[in-house]
Amino acid sequence: SAAPILNEKKQQCGAVMVFQDVSETLAMSVQMTYLSHHDQLTSLPNRVLLHDRLTQGIARASFNDTKLSLLLLDLDKFKFINDALGHHIGDEIIAHIGHSLDCFACNDITVARVGGDEFALVVPHESHSLSLEPLINQVLNVISKPFRSGGEQHILSASLGISVYPDDANCVEEMLRHADSAMYKAKNEAANSYCYFSTDLQVEMNKRLDVGNKLRKALENNAHDVHYQPKYDLRSGEMVGVESLVRLSDDEGGFISPLNFIEYAEETGLIFRLGEQVLEKSCISAKRWLDAGVPTKVAVNISAKQFTDSKLVDTVAMILEKTQLPSKYLELEVTESALIENYEYAVNQLKLIANMKVSIALDDFGTGFSSYGYLRDLPVNCVKIDGSFVQDMHTSPVNKVLVSSINDVAKAIGMSTVGEYVESALAMESLRAIGVDFAQGFAIAHPAPLDNFVRL
Ligand code: C2E
Ligand code: CA
Ligand code: CA
Repeated sequence: SAAPILNEKKQQCGAVMVFQDVSETLAMSVQMTYLSHHDQLTSLPNRVLLHDRLTQGIARASFNDTKLSLLLLDLDKFKFINDALGHHIGDEIIAHIGHSLDCFACNDITVARVGGDEFALVVPHESHSLSLEPLINQVLNVISKPFRSGGEQHILSASLGISVYPDDANCVEEMLRHADSAMYKAKNEAANSYCYFSTDLQVEMNKRLDVGNKLRKALENNAHDVHYQPKYDLRSGEMVGVESLVRLSDDEGGFISPLNFIEYAEETGLIFRLGEQVLEKSCISAKRWLDAGVPTKVAVNISAKQFTDSKLVDTVAMILEKTQLPSKYLELEVTESALIENYEYAVNQLKLIANMKVSIALDDFGTGFSSYGYLRDLPVNCVKIDGSFVQDMHTSPVNKVLVSSINDVAKAIGMSTVGEYVESALAMESLRAIGVDFAQGFAIAHPAPLDNFVRL
């Protein structure tokens, strides 16, 4: 700033000039702007800048009558890497991916890091018909190049979801949402898959949203239903127990099968509350039957995700205590997917449960990996032979041999066996002839709500 120096005649005879060094302040404000627009770990644009670039991109595409694509990329199993190898290695991997993707950044393409293990590419199309496939393949190739860190080699993979302005979205929020839905779809496919947003996907997403809302509402009010399906002793013809199967009511007075919401519940973590409520309802029913003089063991399905809950064992103990059901009337049905991720931990959990004298059934045995190691290591009381073998065993000699051999192995090491999906008298006869202990299926009874069940 400058100020004049005046003499007595008010004429200017000099000036006072004050200089102030603002480089630090300026540098600071540049730095602040940079920080608020970039990710620290990778130095890539962050979500804020991505939003800005998308807004500009859309404006330009609209003006030029071209298209703009958003590629959303999410690393597969990154949480697992982080948990298993530590955040330090996790950070290194993110930095490495950020660096690798940076080679796609140019005047036209923005590469951003939008969250933990999520990256985005904003790609303007020169003309209407630009094919994205070459770029997509390059991106996936870059990700899957082996990478060394912490003395180990890592092979990473990612899932890509793509939305295109103006084909399937006409604002930034919609582009982000649709790319996210498409990415979610790609996640359910093989590693290194990509998926475009589509109206089918939209329908699927809406259904998911709907089922999610129904599930949340049901959980809030403890308002889901539990149906019971009996298991029969093939020798005595008596009912020896029931399996409890959860149901949600739909809008038409019918029921939604758990096949449509268990996966959702697992992904969103709602399974913990659902599992607990189903367990409690099942135990209350079993206690009622016991008090009424018809002691009936109830088998409750426990999903893989529930095994990651360190409170599972305590929850089972707490519910038995609360409902006053003797533990021998409770069985837990588990599938191998519950065990496979963290085997030792799952084995320990099962042993603690078995110590409470709660019995354990291995569900859907014969599909997946169905390792004999499970039969050896786990405190399993009962093997449920997968329904796909039982369903048509009387017409398929191969299935019959498989049922028979699973049955022989299980029985030889002291476990009981159940054939599920028994849909005909013939299948029931075949099971009896083979020496399977119990049968469960539509030929005997469909799963039914509590009141019908009591009558049965
Ligand atoms: P699952 O444990 O294998 O249960 C048996 C499924 O087969 C049930 O389907 C049952 O209704 C059906 N079923 C019974 N008899 C027959 C038959 O003769 N033929 C055929 N084709 N199917 C038969 P649902 O109730 O739809 O349950 C599907 C799956 O959902 C169950 O498979 C189980 O894995 C899961 N699930 C059900 N309830 C729960 C629950 O409370 N918690 C958890 N975590 N999972 C559950
Ligand atoms: Ca089951
Ligand atoms: Ca089953």
